[in-house]
Formats: sequence, structure tokens, C-alpha cells
Amino acid sequence: MHIDSFRARLVGYFGGLILLVSLVLTLFLDRQASNTLSKASGSALYGIANSAALMLERNLAERERETSLLSKSYLLKNAELDSVAVQQRLEDIKATYKYYAWIGVATPDGAVVAATDAMLVGQNVSQRQWFVAGLTGSYLGDVHKAVLLAKLLGEEQAGQPLRFIDFAAPVYAADNSLRAVVASHVNWDWVQDILASAITAEAASEDVEALVLGENGNWLHPFAYIGKLAVPESLPELGQVAIVDWPDEGRFLTTRLAVNASTSSELGWQLVVRQPISRALQPVDELNKQLFILCFFTLLLSIMLAYQLARRFSYPIERLADSAEQIALGGEHVDFAVNSSLHEFSRLSLSLGKMMEKLAVRRQELEQANTHLEQQVVIRTADLERANAALQDLSHKDALTGICNRRAADERLKTAHLALKRGAAVYAVMLLDIDHFKQVNDNFGHEAGDKVIQQVANLLQDSVRETDIVARYGGEEFIVVLAQTEPAKATLIAEKLRAAIAADRMTAVGQITASIGVAIANIRDTDAEAVVRRADAAMYQAKRTGRNRVQLCDSLLL
Ligand code: GH3
Ligand code: MG
Ligand code: MG
Repeated sequence: MHIDSFRARLVGYFGGLILLVSLVLTLFLDRQASNTLSKASGSALYGIANSAALMLERNLAERERETSLLSKSYLLKNAELDSVAVQQRLEDIKATYKYYAWIGVATPDGAVVAATDAMLVGQNVSQRQWFVAGLTGSYLGDVHKAVLLAKLLGEEQAGQPLRFIDFAAPVYAADNSLRAVVASHVNWDWVQDILASAITAEAASEDVEALVLGENGNWLHPFAYIGKLAVPESLPELGQVAIVDWPDEGRFLTTRLAVNASTSSELGWQLVVRQPISRALQPVDELNKQLFILCFFTLLLSIMLAYQLARRFSYPIERLADSAEQIALGGEHVDFAVNSSLHEFSRLSLSLGKMMEKLAVRRQELEQANTHLEQQVVIRTADLERANAALQDLSHKDALTGICNRRAADERLKTAHLALKRGAAVYAVMLLDIDHFKQVNDNFGHEAGDKVIQQVANLLQDSVRETDIVARYGGEEFIVVLAQTEPAKATLIAEKLRAAIAADRMTAVGQITASIGVAIANIRDTDAEAVVRRADAAMYQAKRTGRNRVQLCDSLLL
């Protein structure tokens, strides 16, 4: 298939068009899908963050409320603080919530008087922040490492240091005097568990991750990130979703929410939920892959279709082009029939077929005309040749007498002289002039004179051999060239002619005579004219010496 062919072009253009459309469509769909999916993923992410934040807030509020309620309970306000009843109440509360690590009561001077599992009982906690704050009001303390309890509960749990958040509230007696401070330490693990439950298994499998940012701008959760993961500078505004570049980690769909602890105290925590953009937009990749495959097969199919279409269109044209080529190469009976259902092609084929038929007819007509013309040429050429021959004849004939003229005589003389030069036998020239012809004209008229000239010519013509020539040389003057004739014989013939003229009774004019000069050609004569001049001289001599006589020129020189 030639690159310039109709077929290749159509396949190329069609394929290119489909490719272009596919590319534009894929790009458009990719953008649309990315946008839609980014939005959908963003709202999903926001939903997760929102519910996680809400759960954190509720838990914090609940713990705070529990501690507050405990501080206001009748038991703590009235009973002995180191009594079994108080101890039992603390144990009961601890048992309701698995993340309680410790609940205890300390006197205003900081001495622990009651605690779950009797931990820290007797120790002084007056330096602890929760105690100091708890003396004056309800307190919620930020996450911190266990200081006193670490020894009792163990330094680490599951590879992480033991961390608590503290709740504290003052206990007032019936007379409103400060009686004690009640506090609870909640294991930080609860954050982990809340976040884990807020992030659905499906979200987790898509690498959705929740992080807690503390007030001081450091990570609080997960532990592995603390001090290791840099906080991106451009985190989205609170409550917004954005694509954020995380240092060293790449691009994440990220959202940020404030965790509002309670009205009384503000922790300043922020919940950050993120998902790698590649995972968020994974369905777009899938879609792109499917689109690519679809486009590829569409392209393949359209190229095949274009090829078939082009074949259908180009086949008749190629057939017609082949036929035209055959004509160019000299083919005569070329068939222009093409097998196509397309109207234009069958019309073209029909027209070309008709044209071919007309051409064939024209050709035949031309051939016939040509043959006719050739025949005409042959006929005309023959006519021309005949005319030429007649003309040639006429140019050598004398009009009045019909015998040879002077030109014919000159030519014969030239030939005879050439033959003599080549060694042929001598020839004789006889010049004959009618005597006193002027009188004939004068007495009988010019027409009668003409007749006399004709009669003399006939007589001379009838009297010589076929090899000899008689010609009219001038007005009433004749020349006779006698081939291969000796002087004696020439004189004899001249005499015979003179006698015949003299004996002949020319009707109406009576007797006429003629004087004849005879000269014999000689090898030394340069040309025939020299011989004629001698004959002429001899003729004049005959005139001078009485007329009606023959005079032989016996000398070579004149
Ligand atoms: P001679 O030769 O004996 O000396 O006398 P001549 O009368 O024949 O003298 P010349 O030869 O001088 O005259 C020739 C005449 O012939 C002159 C002319 O009128 C005549 N003549 C020449 N040609 C023709 C011709 O074709 N027809 C006729 N009717 N007369 C001719
Ligand atoms: Mg004369
Ligand atoms: Mg004369």
C-alpha cells in the first residue's frame, strides 16, 4: 500500500481523528472523574474526620463529666475519704471504662487518701499540674507521659511509653470548704481506639489515616510520627479539604478539624485526616486504564473499518486506473466494468465504457479514412506522374508539327556526342532550310505556310530510322541527327530527303525546295554545337550555291 494512496490516506486520517477524539475524550473524562472523585473522596474524608472528632469530643466530655459528677457526689462530700465506700466507688467507676488507668482522691495538702488499686495512696501529689489546677476548678490536662504511675503500671505498653490525659475537679464540703481534689488518668490508648473505630475498614484499606496535632504544633498521635513527621506548612483551613504536599511523603488529600474539648477547658487539638492522592484517585487510574484499552481497541477497530471502507472506495478507482493504464500502453479492448454498488462508480464505469466504444468507432473511422487517403495518394501520384510525363513530352515536342523541338534535339545531340567520346561510331547532323519560304507566306498566307511546315516535318519524320531524330530547329528550319552514320551515307540520306521534298507537290503552294547542310561529328569536336555550326555553315553554303541542294561540310574547322 503506497503512502500516497487513497487507502493509506483514509486510514491515516481516520485513525488520526479517532486518536485525537480519544485523547481529548480521555483527558476530559480524566479531568472530570478526577474532579468528581477528589470531591467525593474529600467529603468522605471530611465525614470520617468529623465523626472521629465528634467521638473524641464526646469521650473527653464524658470523662470530664464523670470526674465532675464524682467530685459532687454525696459520698465524697460527706464520707470519710479513706473509707472502704469511697475506695469501692472509685473502683466501680474505673471498671465502667477500660481506659481509666487510675482514679484517686487527694486532700488539699496533696496527700493521696484513696485510689483505685490503692495506687499512690499516701504519696504527695501537690506538685502535679492536675492537682494544682483541680484545687480551683474542673481540669482537663493535655496528654503527658506518666510520671508517678509509670513505676507502678510499667514504663511502656505495646512499644509506646505510658501516656495519660488527666481530669481533675475540687470536692467541696457542705459548708463549701475545700475538702479534696478528685482526679482520673485516662490512658492515651483510647484515642487510638476511637480513631480506629472512626476510620472504617474500607477507608483504612484505602490508606486513610488520622493524626492528632497538639496545641504546640507537634503530633500527639500516632506515636510513630512524634518528632519524626514534619507538619506541612500549608495544611487546609479548619473544616476544609485540600491536596497538600507532605514533606518527603508526597501529595495527600487532607482535611483538618478542631477538637473542641469542653467549654471549661480548651486543649487546642486538631484532627488531621489524610489519604494519599494516588489512592484517593485510584479509581481514576482504573478508569484511565479502561479508557485506554477502550480507546486502543476503538482505534484498532476504526483503522480496520477505515481500511475496509477505503478498500471499498479505492478498489473501483484502482481498477479504472489500471484500465486507463492499459489504454496508455496501447490496449484496445479495455474493459472499464467495475464491481461497485456505489452509484458514482457505476456511473463513471458506464461513461468510460461508452467513451471507449466511441473511441473504438472513431478509431475505425480514422483507419478507414486513412486507407482511403492512401489510395487517393496512390491514384494522385500516378496522375501526377502521368502529367509529368506528358509535360516532359510536351516540353520536347514542337507545338505546330508534333515532332521533336530544338530542346529535344539538343539533348539527343549531347547524348550522341558523349557516346562518341566514349568510343561509339560517328554521327551526322543535317540542317535543312526551306527555300524562299517568305514568298510562300507572302503568296499563300501564313496558314498555308504553317501547313507546308507541317508537311515537311511529316515527310522528314517518315523518312528517317527510329534511331535517328528529326526536330524543328527554328521557323522553317529542321535538324536531323543520324546515329552511326558515315559521311557518304549521310550525304546520300540528305540527297534522298531533298529529292523527296522537291518531288512532293505541296497542295496549294505548288513545289517547294529545301537546302541541306551536312556535317559529320568528329572526336576532336569539343561538343555537338561545333558539329551543328558546321552543318549550318554547309547549309548556308548550299543556299549561296543555288539552293535545293545538299552541301557536306568537309572540313573540321569553320
Ligand atoms: P532563303 O531561305 O531561301 O534564303 O529565303 P527565305 O525566304 O526562306 O528567307 P528566310 O529564311 O530569311 O525567311 C524565313 C521566313 O519564314 C520568314 C518568316 O516569315 C517565315 N516563317 C518563319 N517561321 C514561320 C512559321 O512558323 N510559319 C510561317 N507561315 N512562316 C514562317
Ligand atoms: Mg530560314
Ligand atoms: Mg528559308
